[in-house]
Amino acid sequence: MSTPTVRAFVLTAPGEASVQEVPAPVAVPGEVVVDVERVGVCGTDIEFFTGEMTYLHEGHSAYPMRLGHEWAGTVSAVGDGVDRSWLGRRVMGDTMLGDRTCRACRRGAQHVCAHRQEVGIRGGRPGALAEQLAVPAWSLHALPDAVDAVLGALVEPGGNALRAAQAAGVGPGDRALVLGPGTIGLLAAMFLRAAGAEVHVMGLGAESLAFARSLGFPHAWTEATLPDEPFDAVVDASNAVHLPALALDVVQPAGRVVYIGIAGEPSTIDTRTLLLKDVTAVGVLSASPALDDTIAAYAGGAVDPRPLVAATVGLDRVGAVLAGERIEGAGPGPKTHVDPRGA
Ligand SMILES: [Zn+2]
Repeated sequence: MSTPTVRAFVLTAPGEASVQEVPAPVAVPGEVVVDVERVGVCGTDIEFFTGEMTYLHEGHSAYPMRLGHEWAGTVSAVGDGVDRSWLGRRVMGDTMLGDRTCRACRRGAQHVCAHRQEVGIRGGRPGALAEQLAVPAWSLHALPDAVDAVLGALVEPGGNALRAAQAAGVGPGDRALVLGPGTIGLLAAMFLRAAGAEVHVMGLGAESLAFARSLGFPHAWTEATLPDEPFDAVVDASNAVHLPALALDVVQPAGRVVYIGIAGEPSTIDTRTLLLKDVTAVGVLSASPALDDTIAAYAGGAVDPRPLVAATVGLDRVGAVLAGERIEGAGPGPKTHVDPRGA
């Protein structure tokens, strides 16, 4: 008798990947198996492909790896102890899988559990770039009919962006600046706009700024053209080493700076500026606490992230996407989606 297999994208070394037949995941007690319908590729995946990802060097992750942490699908099997009503439900799942026992977990911060696995990222937990995925039932979030698989796979990045927007603490009459118009930056801009703020965006290239304008953000600037206007909050969603300090420089006194981007080397800020301006600084890691609010925002139409998806490809094209190859017919958005059921 042969073991059932599924197709999965396997990263074996920096720059080395292939689609392989791997043993089909099994629903062990407490877990479910999901038939994956859509997966987003993000900057973290690219860092694993290039070998730059910090977790590789800290021992949290090792090749071979199965990537994919922005996903949506349908539950096809449940393990012992799992509510059978999950069967057939459309879901997305939390990337962060805390151990559920430590102090951080007990205090509601399982996303920063020191012993956590991260789906497709850390601790050997296989990711969603495959036909099927196994995850703990407790990490699931049901998707309403109004949130299809495309939107469902955008809940994870959306949750990160929503937390950044919430931390900015702005509303009607306020002005916010987002540094770095990638997926997270543009999603944060959308959530800030939904909160009523006037949103400005700062980026590097004419193309990305033109795309931001096409999404209804006319205040799109380069660092050189950034106007000398008061910003009540600044969200750094870039990977530029110097922008955390710029965020602190341009924010208004008593304003807020939010750090959700990450550079390849330490960024420094002058804490004298922080306290002399009475600024609140917030760091954001992970979407976990905001997943349900993100699903609600998408379902109600307060935020529509669909234009961010430039192309949808099959598993066979993931290596090319991670290598930065241009996908034929791709739109101007920053996000590539994968349909593991496709060719
Ligand atoms: Zn824990």
